[in-house]
Amino acid sequence: MNVFETVKQSVTTRQAAEHYGIRVGRNGMACCPFHNDKTPSMKLDRRYHCFGCGADGDVIDFTAALYGLGKKEAAVQLARDFGLSYEEGKLPDKMKKPKPRHKSPEVQFREAQSHCFRVLADYRHLLERWKTEYAPESPNEEWHPRFVEALQKINHVEYLLDTLLSGDTEERAQIMTEYGKDVIELEKRLSELAAPDAASREKYSKHHAAAPER
Ligand SMILES: [Zn+2]
Repeated sequence: MNVFETVKQSVTTRQAAEHYGIRVGRNGMACCPFHNDKTPSMKLDRRYHCFGCGADGDVIDFTAALYGLGKKEAAVQLARDFGLSYEEGKLPDKMKKPKPRHKSPEVQFREAQSHCFRVLADYRHLLERWKTEYAPESPNEEWHPRFVEALQKINHVEYLLDTLLSGDTEERAQIMTEYGKDVIELEKRLSELAAPDAASREKYSKHHAAAPER
């Protein structure tokens, strides 16, 4: 976290005001330091607001106004006065993470397998949808290719998913070798389908969707 985030998360305006010598009542009210205030008209909590002059902001705004500082200077002063440590420059998250160690074959296999499972599970979802969405409404209606695909594939996909989930290592490895390439192809196709499909599903009923499949 940078100095702004650190200070805002760690210090309330009320704590800062008290630290800088402003008397804050138990109700969180204090005489406003920013206008000539006879009776407490400033409410202090995480932020502050003055009902007299309208001064309003967070702990950094408060400290900046109190000492005539820029926001950065005020934040740095607050961090110092409250003993907070923060990161100088804000690094993108990935730069902070240590580089992953080289993955063992077991880990690679496990990851490949769960990836495979995810893709197949998505596919099964899609097929289930197609099976109802593209089902013919009358016996003489021509079957939509998506409906046909759903009928043809759904059981096999379920079998693959079952095996990946509960088969022994050898069975799972066999599926990975046998269908690894197909799954990559399938993933490509699913992502291509996802975008236009989601948009056009509402507009066109299945009767209009007879355009040739890719
Ligand atoms: Zn005021």
